[in-house]
Amino acid sequence: MRPQGSVRYDNQGRVVLVTGGAGGIGLAVSVAFVQSGATVVIADVQEDVASLPPDVDYQLTDVAKPDACQRVVAYVVAQHGAVDVLVNNAAIQPPGSYTAVDELDDEVYEQMLRVNLSGYTYMAKYAIRQMKQQKSGVVINVASGQGHRTARQVPTYGPIKAANLLQAMQWGVEYARDGIRVVSVSPGAIDTPLVRASLELQGGAEELANRHPVGRIGRPQEVAAAILWLASDDASFVTATDLAIDGGLNAFAAFADPYPTK
Ligand code: NAD
Repeated sequence: MRPQGSVRYDNQGRVVLVTGGAGGIGLAVSVAFVQSGATVVIADVQEDVASLPPDVDYQLTDVAKPDACQRVVAYVVAQHGAVDVLVNNAAIQPPGSYTAVDELDDEVYEQMLRVNLSGYTYMAKYAIRQMKQQKSGVVINVASGQGHRTARQVPTYGPIKAANLLQAMQWGVEYARDGIRVVSVSPGAIDTPLVRASLELQGGAEELANRHPVGRIGRPQEVAAAILWLASDDASFVTATDLAIDGGLNAFAAFADPYPTK
């Protein structure tokens, strides 16, 4: 095996707020920031957080509620003095949302809007107010490959993820002269509880892996690595754009023959 290269980040002194950081991608992001020296606050709805790293500041927060978003940002500023990075990551894709739009359950849809769309907006609203005072900050929206491409029976998750892409572009342009960068990332399928809950609805593990040109699904740490770069000053000229972290999924045109499974 040839040397592959690696990078290390120094986030000493930085304050990082991760929504949905108690599991899946958000947990990997939180761990990576902690390991690089950041103070990490996790805002999540999970009650049982015994397995979190001991040095994260866990704040039980439902991002579907605007006042909870305001409260957690105010807490972070009061307790830690700044918000250097906001990772908008908390989102839901309930198995009940895998249906054609004419069969959609209204409450499932409304909750997806509250968490996946409004949650990102309100967290950004309050975090960016603080970042403007600091004259610095980075907001990273975790969007999805499903915000770029269609899939059958995904009538609302994908369109909301597409909105997360435009949020990042809009806000990135709006605050480009305030020292604030806003970007999104679009993961392909990543091995997390969210994906495991809907594996059969997506054709099973082998099928799902095979749709990615690299032939496997991703690891949460691979998304975290990209987010650490985007949040760092090494990405100082990167704003109002999206980064695919998807093993080539988004580039793989529907015209192409599927990869053979055997
Ligand atoms: P996950 O379900 O494994 O974890 C999501 C976390 O968000 C959980 O800890 C959950 O408790 C928390 N959460 C849910 N509702 C919340 C609320 N109202 N307030 C605060 N926290 C809440 O999901 P994941 O797979 O890690 O996904 C993380 C992000 O990545 C999401 O934005 C998702 O859409 C996106 N994404 C995931 C994949 C994938 O394949 N896993 C692919 C593309 C994009």
